[in-house]
Amino acid sequence: MSKSKQKNNDNKIEEFYENKIIKILIIGEVGVGKSNFIYRYIEDKFSPTILASVGFDSNTKVLNYENKKIIVQLWDSAGQSMYRTITKKLFNRVQGIIILYDITDLNSFLSVENWIQLIEEENKKIIYEIAGNKCDLNELRKVNINQGKELGSKYRINFFETSAKKNININESVNSLIMKILESDDLEYNPTFSIDKRSLKVRTKDSNERCC
Ligand code: GDP
Ligand code: MG
Repeated sequence: MSKSKQKNNDNKIEEFYENKIIKILIIGEVGVGKSNFIYRYIEDKFSPTILASVGFDSNTKVLNYENKKIIVQLWDSAGQSMYRTITKKLFNRVQGIIILYDITDLNSFLSVENWIQLIEEENKKIIYEIAGNKCDLNELRKVNINQGKELGSKYRINFFETSAKKNININESVNSLIMKILESDDLEYNPTFSIDKRSLKVRTKDSNERCC
């Protein structure tokens, strides 16, 4: 690459970090833990009661990458089917989506494919992944971890089991989606660069890599 081209590229990267906010929407049925997932990621807190979708102060967190900032915003949504049309509209306003289900609630898992269909109908370019939440409740489990993995493989997307309560894989699942967004070829989000995954990982608050 020529020097001027390189410089131009560096400027682009600079600009990306200065100006871009990575917006990620959390979807899934009522009660799967969407609001608590966000609460944990943003504020490192958990609420044993159901949280209102806007029940906390902020949905934004700044990750440091070297001297630059990555601003991450997690958008909450309502799971009720009457709100689906509204939720669907949001698919075009974010760069990533996490579809959450509850490992103790088979129906919430079965509806993941409906959510995937909605996503595919609305925005084929969007990057998304699946997370089976409440993996701390292993004794109440109704969805085997392999079922989640198989669904992930079927759609070639990442799959995690998470617990907002015990803070398991919350950062990992969000950060992995961020990495994919950053690595995507879509120029709107990403010029031609890749990011050192380890750096991002080291600098996030926890690195809880326990598996369910
Ligand atoms: P939402 O309707 O998807 O936003 O779900 P909420 O975040 O309001 O959570 C619904 C209920 O599940 C609340 O009682 C939470 O405390 C509980 N909950 C959420 N995440 C977890 C988790 O990881 N483990 C357990 N045991 N409970 C959770
Ligand atoms: Mg909620």
